[in-house]
Amino acid sequence: MANLKLGIIGSGQLGRMTVQAASDYGISCHIFSPDTENSPAGQVCNAFTTGEYTDEKALREFYSMVDAVVCEFENVPVTALELAPEKILVSPGIKALATAQNRLEEKDTARFLGIPTAPYWRVKSTDDLINAMNLLNGEAILKTAKFGYDGKGQIRAHMGDNFESLWQQINTELAILETLVDFKNEISILIARTIEGAIKCFPPTINHHENGILVHSTAPAILPSRIIEAGYNYAKLIADHLEIVGLLTIELFLLEENTLVFNEIAPRPHNSFHWTIEGCKTSQFHQLVRCVSGLPLGDVSVDGRWHMENILGQTAARISSGYHASGNYVHEYGKAETKTNRKMGHITWKE
Ligand code: AMP
Repeated sequence: MANLKLGIIGSGQLGRMTVQAASDYGISCHIFSPDTENSPAGQVCNAFTTGEYTDEKALREFYSMVDAVVCEFENVPVTALELAPEKILVSPGIKALATAQNRLEEKDTARFLGIPTAPYWRVKSTDDLINAMNLLNGEAILKTAKFGYDGKGQIRAHMGDNFESLWQQINTELAILETLVDFKNEISILIARTIEGAIKCFPPTINHHENGILVHSTAPAILPSRIIEAGYNYAKLIADHLEIVGLLTIELFLLEENTLVFNEIAPRPHNSFHWTIEGCKTSQFHQLVRCVSGLPLGDVSVDGRWHMENILGQTAARISSGYHASGNYVHEYGKAETKTNRKMGHITWKE
């Protein structure tokens, strides 16, 4: 695919690993981001445009130089994608991106499709919060509807709290209040979908979060096949409904009685599937590149059981010790600055 030019909006680690996969297929990548070339994706790409996501002229010029475009994070403004000419394939698509940017729309979509969610309420004021807490009558999580990630933009709420002060703390115009789910595990399901609607499902992953941030993934998750099939079915329903081209991850809670509850979607490569780089015949990044370049979807079979540990700013020393164990695959993202809770890299190993 030597003549294909893939555009990537965003310059983080997901863009970096997409560039690395594309290069295996001889595809060159052009990054568009407000950041500089000294960014995780900027360091490895073939071309880089520094521009704001609202800069129409820079975006149009960028689109004129690429054959397809993928978003490497879900908060790319929808208006930036709307400028793409029709002949360019856009992943994941405008409908998918708009839905993933709003937790209320994500949950409304799941509910519409008959996928179980925790009870939730739309909250726009202290009064809404009080009313919802009275109905819920227990422990809850208040989340900003937009721009929340990695546990940011969420607060626990209990009966008896000062709701006025909680509402001020969350500091948003629109929020979602969710019942706290008592889960035994968190799992994620990843599927790839082509523009023709062909689908491949990756083996599911079990995830462990701390303070809302993913720290460890194990895959394939050992679960009854009935649960895995239910997860695949939910992901397919959402991917078809949102007409996704590329990848869709759904995050789910697994309850004690072995039922699944939907949490959220991510229509892009997902941290909990970084293990697929070494663990699957086709990694999530290769699969994304295949989806947008007209290549057939790859085999996602897996050999053995895999672990992935995220390296955050506060655990960055794990990277150097990680190089000493022969079974480890170390990935560093090339971030200039180390900060608490910033994802600096990850380590994968086989059990
Ligand atoms: P989110 O940003 O919605 O993915 O939330 C980050 C993490 O917070 C999740 O992976 C869970 O560990 C936890 N969490 C989010 N929502 C809930 C909920 N309704 N009940 C229990 N835990 C939750």
